[in-house]
Amino acid sequence: MARRKATQPIQEFPLIRQLQRRHERRSPLIRKGIGDDAAVVSIPAGDWAVLTTDLLTEGIHFDLRTASPASVGYRAAMANLSDVAAMGATPRFLLISIAIPAAIRATEIHALYRGLMSACGQHHVHLIGGDTSASRQGLFLSITLLGTTARGHALFRKGARVGDGIYVTGTLGDSLAGLQLLTYRRAPRRGTRLTKIDRDFLITRHRHPTARVREGLWLNQAQLATAAIDLSDGLSGDLRHVCEASRVGAEIELPHLPISPACQAYADNLNMDPSALALAGGEDYELLFTVAADDEQKLERQARAKRFLVTRIGTIRPRRFGLQSLASNGTRTPIPITSYRHFT
Ligand code: ADP
Ligand code: MG
Repeated sequence: MARRKATQPIQEFPLIRQLQRRHERRSPLIRKGIGDDAAVVSIPAGDWAVLTTDLLTEGIHFDLRTASPASVGYRAAMANLSDVAAMGATPRFLLISIAIPAAIRATEIHALYRGLMSACGQHHVHLIGGDTSASRQGLFLSITLLGTTARGHALFRKGARVGDGIYVTGTLGDSLAGLQLLTYRRAPRRGTRLTKIDRDFLITRHRHPTARVREGLWLNQAQLATAAIDLSDGLSGDLRHVCEASRVGAEIELPHLPISPACQAYADNLNMDPSALALAGGEDYELLFTVAADDEQKLERQARAKRFLVTRIGTIRPRRFGLQSLASNGTRTPIPITSYRHFT
């Protein structure tokens, strides 16, 4: 493509060579990574390929005035890793495409890649290629991740049945609380229990979420989940996806939602109920999954043995039941649609 060299400080080919030098790693599964017309990888015989892609736009999905390039990269990679985890697959290979505006410096692109690759390194995911372009306005980042799973074994959104238990991994609402702390810079009220350690924990949960890859693999291999999804938009929205795909309803027991001590302290400090944060909070990247009643004990036993935190938060109900929450005083309320939508 035509380039205005004078206003384009970053040059495509030297940049690609630098990225390759810094981030390309050898793997017996990679026949050809960066440097040819396309990458070539081998996939264990008979496995299914699991593919996901995300397009992130500056000003819509991230804001480089408030987030560092490294944390944008980290979270972008983690979102894709979490999608593969929610399918119960092993993430393996990554393609990254970027459109770079003139105002961005090479050091920022390298920081972005450092963040991306630090998320991927945790899961032994290898960079095998991408594409590079100039942008007239704003940074665009597209990530494609290829994972694999044994043939016939994947966790879908459909498959939940009436009577199944609804479970989540980890704790909910931390990322939203961390985002609010960063955005509003609220000073803690006097006499509050919200400590610096709590604040740091919540902010880290927002900036450096963990994709539940090992948990997804376990649920898939042990054939314990009837349906699964990752919590990227918030419990209320993502549970809805499972219910629609499975043609069922759901009842969530609010007192059972797993809330971290830090999130509890944050909510107490604002005089609010932390279950609102758990329901609405996006980007927790925990897994939500359903388990047949007969398998629940087995699931909980195995989770304890593996030291995975899983919590039963409700029950799958018939479709006509809709989505309802049950409070500790016994009141039932329809679960609101509160998740974040970029197109509304
Ligand atoms: P083509 O003209 O065939 O698209 P490119 O010159 O764009 O080839 O890319 C050359 C090699 O560099 C390819 O292997 C491609 O996958 C890789 N590549 C290009 N841009 C990036 C990027 N931003 N990150 C990682 N790899 C990249
Ligand atoms: Mg290209």
